[in-house]
Amino acid sequence: MTVELLVATTNTGKLREYQRLLAGLPVVLRSLADLPQAVPEVAETGETFEANALLKAHAYSAQTGLMTLADDSGLMVDALNGAPSVHSARYAPTAEARNAKLLAALEGVPFERRTARFICVVAVVLPLHDGALTSTAEGRLEGHIAFSARGTHGFGYDPIFLLPDGRTVAELSPEEKDAVSHRGKALAKLKPLLLTMLNLSAQSISPNH
Ligand code: IMP
Repeated sequence: MTVELLVATTNTGKLREYQRLLAGLPVVLRSLADLPQAVPEVAETGETFEANALLKAHAYSAQTGLMTLADDSGLMVDALNGAPSVHSARYAPTAEARNAKLLAALEGVPFERRTARFICVVAVVLPLHDGALTSTAEGRLEGHIAFSARGTHGFGYDPIFLLPDGRTVAELSPEEKDAVSHRGKALAKLKPLLLTMLNLSAQSISPNH
């Protein structure tokens, strides 16, 4: 039996990654764009990735009644005291502008001080008649900010995030990115619990239950 799982994002790059990362699980994925009625956007007012992921997962699950997966992710750059962090999506208006702004902010900063990490916290909420089951997991990817953008895969800051092998994340194939990414690692940690929640959800909606 398959269960509907709402992936609470409008970011098509993220959605594609979740479609791959959740392939093989007994779920039918829905995105916010698939909902029959538009749901009000949830403001990311939390100060941590975990707070924002939980905020979104709880709010969209309450609005739709669906089991919901939400994440909050972003980039932390050591030379910028951890910025842009939870503000990564709002650092500048477009992905190109965000990458250009970050490269400009690190102008003159040598390689050894360009250390950075992607962080992703995934939250899943299963609504039940008397409350909700919730679980979260965090994944990280360590690297450096490049001196210029390179690569055409992925999304967001991928073209300026350098891995230890000298490639940017945008130079990885989708499968290579999934194997090392902050999102892939968070989901791998969450998978056993997610499977338990999917089973519970299938039981609670089974006609024989
Ligand atoms: P949010 O999680 O939707 O709030 O977005 C976080 C921000 O970090 C967006 O600007 C994304 O483009 C960026 N970001 C998150 N994950 C990745 C990634 O895997 N690659 C590149 N940028 C990312």
